[in-house]
Amino acid sequence: MRHLKRLPEPEVLSQKKQEWTQNFLNSGKSRPDNSKYAHKSIRESLNAMSFHKCFYCERKLKNMPSEVDHYIEVSEQPSLAFDWHNLYLACNHCNNKSTNKAIPNEDILNPCVHSDEEIMNHISFEDEQIISNNDSVKGRQTIQKYKLDSNSLDKVRYEHLKQFHKVLIQIQRICMAEGRKKMNEAEINVLKRFQQAEQPFSLMFKIVLAKHDVL
Ligand SMILES: [Zn+2]
Repeated sequence: MRHLKRLPEPEVLSQKKQEWTQNFLNSGKSRPDNSKYAHKSIRESLNAMSFHKCFYCERKLKNMPSEVDHYIEVSEQPSLAFDWHNLYLACNHCNNKSTNKAIPNEDILNPCVHSDEEIMNHISFEDEQIISNNDSVKGRQTIQKYKLDSNSLDKVRYEHLKQFHKVLIQIQRICMAEGRKKMNEAEINVLKRFQQAEQPFSLMFKIVLAKHDVL
């Protein structure tokens, strides 16, 4: 999870949200119309906000089913069904919160509210495994709510870490061959690229790089 800056409200929402909300509230239905709150242009804005990543686990969503998620459940606040600030983008895996509804939103980290520093106060990584930092309850509950410690996520993060280590070893070999003790700026930048916000699992790499003392 990384902090995400919310982009301006998509035009379709500015124009339609009142009508859509009214119709939904009057309909007596329990779910709003997916073709409206997950409208193509809303999805596009959410994707642009997160660099095409899941808001919660930072998995790249290319070739992966994703869903527009209501941060505050529609069952709790039907009036927020078309509220731009309540629409998040999640991979299938993270959107499956049904088993963890008991954990209230106030007790977890929110990528649209908390800064990277705040997130890192509560969440850390040991290799590909996500852990709560200093036994933080908020960190633990966030991991639990979105199942950020699932085997399937560990596997994907492990593959990305492997890529990183491959690059790191290559650079270290070049340094050795050239008799340099330190990496040059270009080499450091190659490694730093992994922690840029548009990269998958960038928070993990931010922590990995800090531990490597590259920065
Ligand atoms: Zn996810």
